[in-house]
Amino acid sequence: MQILIKGAKVVDPGNLEDHKDILIRNGKFEKILDQGESVETENVQVVDAQGLIAVPGLIDVHVHLREPGQEYKETIESGLKAAAKGGFTAVCSMPNTDPVNDNAQVTSFIINQGKKAKSAKVYPAGAISRGSSGTSLAEIHDMKQAGVRAVTDDGLPVSNSQLMRRALEYCKSMDIPVFVHAEDKDLVNGGSMNEGPRATALGIKGIPNAAESVMVARDIALAELTGARVHFCHMSTAESIEAIRQAKRRGAPVSCETAPHYFVLTDNDIPPYDTHYKMNPPLRSEADRHAIIEGLKDGTIDMIATDHAPHHADEKDVEFDRAAFGIIGLETALSVSLKLVEEGHLSLSDLVEKMAKAPAKLMGYDNSISQGNPADLTLIDPESAYTIDPDSFISKSRNTPFKGLKVKGETVMTLVDGRIVYSKQ
Ligand SMILES: [Zn+2]
Repeated sequence: MQILIKGAKVVDPGNLEDHKDILIRNGKFEKILDQGESVETENVQVVDAQGLIAVPGLIDVHVHLREPGQEYKETIESGLKAAAKGGFTAVCSMPNTDPVNDNAQVTSFIINQGKKAKSAKVYPAGAISRGSSGTSLAEIHDMKQAGVRAVTDDGLPVSNSQLMRRALEYCKSMDIPVFVHAEDKDLVNGGSMNEGPRATALGIKGIPNAAESVMVARDIALAELTGARVHFCHMSTAESIEAIRQAKRRGAPVSCETAPHYFVLTDNDIPPYDTHYKMNPPLRSEADRHAIIEGLKDGTIDMIATDHAPHHADEKDVEFDRAAFGIIGLETALSVSLKLVEEGHLSLSDLVEKMAKAPAKLMGYDNSISQGNPADLTLIDPESAYTIDPDSFISKSRNTPFKGLKVKGETVMTLVDGRIVYSKQ
């Protein structure tokens, strides 16, 4: 099976930024051709990509696939197909399933279900602690053997600093990154949106910025103590970004991600009691939103992830303080993030770095469009303007604050290992 992608502008930061034709064969990039360079086209499927952008397959390092245990919200198959539609060729799945992915059997199950889906790839993250209960370490070595690319107790912070130190020392010896869900539950204290004037006006209990930044500070200190690789998930506050900026200047082995909602929305955008705007960490202030954009611009924030968190309508259609935290993002992230380019905050190349290249590095490989690499590729139409409509989603869930948002730029084709796993037409 051979595919020739013809006429696209290739944007692959650090490697290529030019109009090229891409020949794919046996699942790999066979040859990168100058335009007009002739190639045998017998038995080759030609994809006319005039006017399109070809980028290394996007990778989302923070996704909740809900299987095993909560298949009514999302399955591995529905989540991976939603990912492919969003332009993602791989996702890293969080371990807070039921049962928790804290052992090799669950890891293997996720990998096998992922293969059966024949869509985007799944790289499971395993739990740091048994049952993510924060008391003793999970079977990290066995899970690594089975294929986890990272460990995290996402959703449940490791509050015991000594256990976190041991986890970091252990993971350093195995060269596996530790993802931190930075949250001090005592400071959250039952809050469900950002602490500030908007929460007061709505009469909803707030969550202070410090609930995030105190844990960021602790885990920077532990990263520097142990030398282990620490990756901070879904950063939302100015204080966290500044702490990571300073840590990076000192050479600390830390990286971080933010999510599109934190650079597009603030707590002032929340329509009264609309639970589709409830997630953890919460939408913050305009000053925080600016700090997130600055962090993306100066490289403090390495990557953009979605924190795709599907929930059933019944879990959202309740009082704000009782509703589940979380929104979905796989099918909106690219279009929403392209606003950063449209508004002049990032170049397209910068955005590709943050949605494809940096996430691949964190997952332990290089996804450049280079001869011999697996042909994971996303084709984007930068001019396609549309309005986000949750009824068109492949995901089993609909919990998004972006319904009705006008966006420009979308995925038209996604290839994984040289196979077309999504095509808009
Ligand atoms: Zn989290």
